[in-house]
Amino acid sequence: MNYWCEQALIGGVVHQGVRLEVSDGRFGDVTIGSPPNDATRLRGLTLPPFTNSHSHAFHRVLRGRAFQDSFWSWRREMYETAARLDPDSYYRLARAVYAEMALAGIGTVGEFHYLHHQPSGMPYQEPNAMGEALIAAAGDVGIRMTLLDTCYLHGGLGRDPEGVQVRFADASPAAWVERVAGLEATDLVKVGAALHSVRALELGEMETVAAWSEGNRSPLHAHVSEQSAENEECVAFYGASPIEVIARTGAVTERFTAIHFTQVTASDIEILQEEHGMVCLCPTTERDLADGIGPARRLVDHGVELSLGTDSHAVIDMFEEMRAAEMDERLASGRREQLSPVGLVAAATSGGGRSLGWGQSGLVAGAAADFVTVTLDGVHTAGIDDSVRALVFAARPGDVTDVVVAGRPVVVGGTLPSIPDPAGDLAHEISLLTD
Ligand SMILES: [Zn+2]
Repeated sequence: MNYWCEQALIGGVVHQGVRLEVSDGRFGDVTIGSPPNDATRLRGLTLPPFTNSHSHAFHRVLRGRAFQDSFWSWRREMYETAARLDPDSYYRLARAVYAEMALAGIGTVGEFHYLHHQPSGMPYQEPNAMGEALIAAAGDVGIRMTLLDTCYLHGGLGRDPEGVQVRFADASPAAWVERVAGLEATDLVKVGAALHSVRALELGEMETVAAWSEGNRSPLHAHVSEQSAENEECVAFYGASPIEVIARTGAVTERFTAIHFTQVTASDIEILQEEHGMVCLCPTTERDLADGIGPARRLVDHGVELSLGTDSHAVIDMFEEMRAAEMDERLASGRREQLSPVGLVAAATSGGGRSLGWGQSGLVAGAAADFVTVTLDGVHTAGIDDSVRALVFAARPGDVTDVVVAGRPVVVGGTLPSIPDPAGDLAHEISLLTD
């Protein structure tokens, strides 16, 4: 299969007239300035698909519903949804959520998965039934997934899990290791690890997960400093900030990604800088939950690589995540142009790819044949000369026309052939979970 791109973003530079040869799921020759002979034409800008580095699929249920005054009261509603899911309903819900992602140009999702067990806290007969439901859902849609199996053992610092938290908790670090060993990678699935937070794991338990990640050379993610209350509790308990505590366990390496990293100090940033760890910002969730503004510019100035995630799915819109990272910096600093548009696209694509453990990416020979095409002549983007600026400052998910993953068309002409009615599916599944 051959494609001809009107414009293509390669190595941060927009080229005109690029021919992509695709065979066996990988790019063959990539020819710049070629004529459109015998190839499927892609109008607009073609680039690697977005990588959504931080997702909790079931949080989609809460979009537009949870109106309480704080993160902590939002969390109570999230727990009510978590209590109602089973492997079948989670599969159907997640399939619709991943369909929404694919239509928004997302080709890879990092699912930070902690809803493991039965409502009683007992494992399902198939201990990974919930994780397998997520893997099957992504597979049906046709996108890549890194399942970040999340170790969660405590309901707070020094506290046992209670209520719905028993569904999240494995019996011990060893039980987590044993369960995760049952998850298998495929061409489109990678298995990684996550520390839920410093609230949910003690030091020695974090060490076990860090060692597993090291032994498997897998990505390792953790929620870090999303909320100031979380920092205060951690400092009171450990006399150290969350990232200082996590770093003591050996978890912070070049395969580590700190999720949110919103309420942080200069020395917190230096820890990631020294260990080459990454940060995943989730600006639309952070603003929805009134978390604060992540220090995107300071992180870039320190050479910390960024990725982006839609997290709670207040919206699923990687254009908006890119835009928000920049706009929030403008509001906080009183200065414009804090982050480069090409750098924001890198965060939404290759930064996420590194964070989730997917090697070489980009429209280059030998790389996985993954790409998204965004139209540039719709009402949102018409008249903008700079294609990358059009993407970052004006485009919306509805401007995505095509998504190809591993050489297979996932979105064609703005529709998803594998899932005919994702909106109907979302409405139906959410109504069942909220009646
Ligand atoms: Zn999260």
